[in-house]
Amino acid sequence: MLTNLQARDVATVLHPYSNLATLPEQGTLILERGQGVFVHDVDGKPYIEGMAGLWCNSLGHGREELVEAAAEQMRRLPFAHLFTGKSHDPAIALAEKLKEIAPMEAAKVFFCSSGSEANDTQMKLVWYVNNALGRPRKKKIISRIKAYHGVTIASASLTGLPNNHIDFDLPLSSVRHAACPHHWRFAHEGESEAEFSARLAAELDAQIEAEGPETVAAFIAEPVMGAGGVIVPPEGYFAAIQPVLEKHEIMLIADEVICGFGRLGEWFGSSVLGMTPDTVSVAKALTSSYVPLGAVIIPDWIDDALKAQSAKIGVFGHGFTYSGHPVAAAVALKTLEIYEREDVFSHVRAIIPQFQRRLKALADHPIVGEARGIGLVGAVELVADKRTKRSFDARRAAAAKAVALAQDEGLIVRAIGEAVSICPPLVISEAEIDELFDRLARALDRAEEWATR
Ligand code: PLP
Repeated sequence: MLTNLQARDVATVLHPYSNLATLPEQGTLILERGQGVFVHDVDGKPYIEGMAGLWCNSLGHGREELVEAAAEQMRRLPFAHLFTGKSHDPAIALAEKLKEIAPMEAAKVFFCSSGSEANDTQMKLVWYVNNALGRPRKKKIISRIKAYHGVTIASASLTGLPNNHIDFDLPLSSVRHAACPHHWRFAHEGESEAEFSARLAAELDAQIEAEGPETVAAFIAEPVMGAGGVIVPPEGYFAAIQPVLEKHEIMLIADEVICGFGRLGEWFGSSVLGMTPDTVSVAKALTSSYVPLGAVIIPDWIDDALKAQSAKIGVFGHGFTYSGHPVAAAVALKTLEIYEREDVFSHVRAIIPQFQRRLKALADHPIVGEARGIGLVGAVELVADKRTKRSFDARRAAAAKAVALAQDEGLIVRAIGEAVSICPPLVISEAEIDELFDRLARALDRAEEWATR
């Protein structure tokens, strides 16, 4: 039986990423407020936010300094833009800061409002710059199966999940998908992680040769695949992939939308996983999710090509009304200041061992096939048969059930297929990590009972 608010919700809000057929009966969890790593629903029940919202609420709720930064900027200059001949100091200071911390030699920063817009911009830049450089055939972009890069026409094309393509007439014809680097699921019998990485690199090389290297412009990758199920690259993966890209003069785009800003204990996931990207997309934890903001960080050679093109044709025809929105930029600057001032990433590095120990211990659970993760992100993949790795069938969708039961236990986690993902705020304490995993373990016990009865 839905509450009045739930009934109004499902009657009027078209919910993103939801089963629109079942939602009207099930209703939604309606949240009202948050403090630290906890959120409270409209009845006052507290939940540990085990997903930091959608992998984004890095500093937790109730950060007055971020509220103040937004309010102060709203009082002073709530809006200004960066189009033809205009700018403002929050955007300038934020671009300078992102340049300083970027995981590569950075020249400039393009601002937008989301991860999808950042990756959409990446794709447009790849096309535009290759036209500018006189390489009009070098346009294809290779992403990976199970990658998640967003939902705009271009970024949904890069995403490697069927839900984002089927019936949307996607992907675009210039996008290709390479193999998913999930060792547990896709490695051959007895194949080590390093051997698996070498095989994927060889397969990528063959795929590029088959496409024609002169037609392939870029390869895009999340350091750790997030919304595809938290898939940590196997040992030596980027070290094996990058020489293939270099050989064929294919640029590497790092999608740091989840991994950026401390998720793996450093500013960027790229540096933790040995990626040396040409360009970077960021969003989410850039503002600790308090306001929407995304960005693309570019190197000199792209900036030079853009300038050269403008010298020929005039205006660079890309940009959003809210590119570099001053309130978002002010909140981002304050967020980055807090990361440094409170040494948040040292805290993350200190708690990673405990988080990973509690996560990996779940591998012993009867319905957990794999417990995987790195840094402060992880997932448990549920299986009906541990030996064969067979998933539960649709009637016994155990991950969705486990997530519902976790909610009952006062924990928010997320189902991705048959994986349950966990990505708490970076500021979570050791006691809260224990409480999170205690609640998750109880939910898994109850899900097992339900799925196997
Ligand atoms: N890239 C990655 C790696 C993401 O995880 C996401 C969202 O989860 C996006 C891009 C898209 O970001 P947004 O939802 O802000 O458009």
